[in-house]
Amino acid sequence: MSLKQLDGHTILIGLMAYPIRHSMSPTMHNHAFEKLGLNFAYLAFEITNDKLPKAIEAIKTLDMRGSNVSMPNNQKVIPYLDKLDPATEMIGAVNTIVNDDGVLTGYTTDGTGMIKSLDDEGIDIRGKKMTLAGAGGAGTAIAIQCALDGVKEISIFNRDDEFFQQAKRNVELINEKTDCKATLHRLEDKEDFKNEINSAYIYADATSVGMKPLEDQSLVNDPSWLRKDLVVFDTVYAPRTTKLMEVAQKAGVKQVFDGLGMMLEQGAAAFKLWTGEDMPVDYIHNILFDDND
Ligand code: NAD
Repeated sequence: MSLKQLDGHTILIGLMAYPIRHSMSPTMHNHAFEKLGLNFAYLAFEITNDKLPKAIEAIKTLDMRGSNVSMPNNQKVIPYLDKLDPATEMIGAVNTIVNDDGVLTGYTTDGTGMIKSLDDEGIDIRGKKMTLAGAGGAGTAIAIQCALDGVKEISIFNRDDEFFQQAKRNVELINEKTDCKATLHRLEDKEDFKNEINSAYIYADATSVGMKPLEDQSLVNDPSWLRKDLVVFDTVYAPRTTKLMEVAQKAGVKQVFDGLGMMLEQGAAAFKLWTGEDMPVDYIHNILFDDND
């Protein structure tokens, strides 16, 4: 962050989560502010649930422009906000707060970020069928936003854990409130899983599988499950090539994506909400990853 840019007019944006020191978001946003000559600063604050009410109040007190929120605050923050945008209300979790003259509005940019990252690659999922694994924070945001934005059919799979009820809720909400047709499936039913992947335009994995400590695992291990013209999307971006992506490459799938684009675009969507400006995404990508891919 260039010192010459910080002065008595600098506008503060926060990130409220715990743990959070590892986050790439401060680097992402501060470099984007500097590149565009915007007089903003983005700082991370370690905020647990018990500190959350005072931290949210501080957004108003300090006249901050807003904040990101992450685990463990995405759902807990909702009662402290004045408004939610309609998609966020359906998703039931917030990752971005915007302060308009003391009125705090909550947004979720993960789902829009995922769709934008595919748009950037020339992939339009509107009007098509998606098979989706996962119904946690990422899976819920993706399912609801895709349904709202015109995906025609979504088959949602989850294993029999505490997120299965959330998967059920997502399916019910989508069928009730959108034109998309959603169906609920058990991940344990491998034959069903294989068939639903085979009949989809895109298979998206929004589970923790593929990410540490499950980095050597994939929900799909047989390349014959994956058509060459299927789009395969993994929300995980570390490691950059997940086990699922390796299986997809073995199968000869041409369009295989990790979650890096989604991560950058969810940040860019928040950046736009706060500043009204487009984040220079390619520039930020090179700063964060410097791998020219
Ligand atoms: P979460 O804890 O809210 O949800 C976890 C999901 O994974 C649930 O559906 C759960 O049932 C499923 N799951 C966990 N272990 C499993 C296993 N062994 N087998 C099958 N399913 C399993 O987590 P989240 O915040 O939704 O994150 C999910 C994934 O999305 C993570 O890999 C995370 O890195 C990724 N993510 C990426 C971005 C991005 O911008 N690219 C943003 C958010 C999350």
